[in-house]
Amino acid sequence: MFSTFKPKIETNSCSTESEGDNCCSPQPKGKVECPNCHEKAKGVLGKTFEALVKEESKAKFSCFDGFYYCKNPTCETVYFRYETILTQEDMKVVVGLKEGATPATVCYCFEWTKEKIKAELEATGETNALEDIKAKMENPGCACEILNPSGGCCLGDVTKAIKDMKKGD
Ligand SMILES: [Zn+2]
Repeated sequence: MFSTFKPKIETNSCSTESEGDNCCSPQPKGKVECPNCHEKAKGVLGKTFEALVKEESKAKFSCFDGFYYCKNPTCETVYFRYETILTQEDMKVVVGLKEGATPATVCYCFEWTKEKIKAELEATGETNALEDIKAKMENPGCACEILNPSGGCCLGDVTKAIKDMKKGD
């Protein structure tokens, strides 16, 4: 099998030597394959990476832009840039969407976990997680960019988690 994926050497610098693959582009565009599981991954902002990666892990990089987030539950990759992979060990927070994560946080802004949703479903057959999150997004507002490892809104993940649990997953 031929692969078009070309491994790059981490230069630990923000020089512009790699035209087009410059790690300092403000926001990664499109989707890139995780070097570990080969699922497509979405880019995260440098400030997301900066807020959620441990200091000692961040010390290896001079620039935090150009990382991608692998949301595949069975893949240990959390963030990657070219061949550089960061895992749960490098993170300040537990990545709730990864298999076996405890707590399995789905909404980082308002602290909804799969455990909490499950308890509600077991007690009442329903959960107000989505309503609660939507209301709080209005007021006080959310901060997904610096709280959620995905760097984005959690509503899709929460909806999926509720659906999976109702199915008895
Ligand atoms: Zn992966």
